[in-house]
Amino acid sequence: MNIVLFGPPGAGKGTQAIKLSGHYNIPHISTGDILRANVRDGTELGREAKVFMDVGKLVPDEVLIGIIKSRLLGPDCSPGFLLDGYPRTIPQADALTGILEEIGKPLDVVLNIDVPDEKLVTRLSGRRMCQCGASFHVEFNSPKQDGICDACGGELYQRDDDKEEAIIQRLEVYSTQTQPLIDYYGKIGIMVTIDGIGDIDDIFADICKALE
Ligand code: ADP
Ligand code: AMP
Repeated sequence: MNIVLFGPPGAGKGTQAIKLSGHYNIPHISTGDILRANVRDGTELGREAKVFMDVGKLVPDEVLIGIIKSRLLGPDCSPGFLLDGYPRTIPQADALTGILEEIGKPLDVVLNIDVPDEKLVTRLSGRRMCQCGASFHVEFNSPKQDGICDACGGELYQRDDDKEEAIIQRLEVYSTQTQPLIDYYGKIGIMVTIDGIGDIDDIFADICKALE
């Protein structure tokens, strides 16, 4: 199954992606996680990306297109893949179509997790992340042990871009640069919208139902 998980920052893409990746046995490809790993490792890509990420702006398209192209060629993607956080612009979506045509793996579905803006700010400001990609929330999805990841035992941290100023910028960027993709994929007829409000397990069940 070749899936794009779509939605605004804080919609719950990462939360659902980890569950889906385990359930369908396909790799979870989060461009945000790939960029953050590069920032942590101090690579040239990480240094370039950090400037944009810290202020809530998008990293340039050509950088992301290169990352996604080489990642989709990975042998673990042969049974399918789950993209999270890509595409975010029309040029990224066009590039994805071209790459997938080249490798003969068309998209099956774009799952749009729908959450209104007023809920997103609370979700993002209370988010706590682990380096393994798992995300928690101080109130809505707290870890069993305070500050410790349930999945790997790693220490949880607050992302630099989960501070108020960057959150506002990211929501603005979503509405101007990313939201137009709803029309783009709607016209092709492969977008399914899921209500992202409610219990995490219930949303997961809705997604699985939509996929089946
Ligand atoms: P995204 O990957 O779309 O940016 P995340 O999966 O990281 O979003 O979720 C953002 C925040 O919202 C996290 O703190 C997460 O624990 C929390 N969250 C995810 N799903 C829900 C939900 N259904 N209800 C309440 N909070 C949620
Ligand atoms: P995320 O983890 O998906 O919230 O992404 C965190 C940040 O990484 C974004 O605010 C952007 O700065 C950058 N980023 C992640 N994915 C992309 C993408 N597809 N295009 C451009 N920038 C991206």
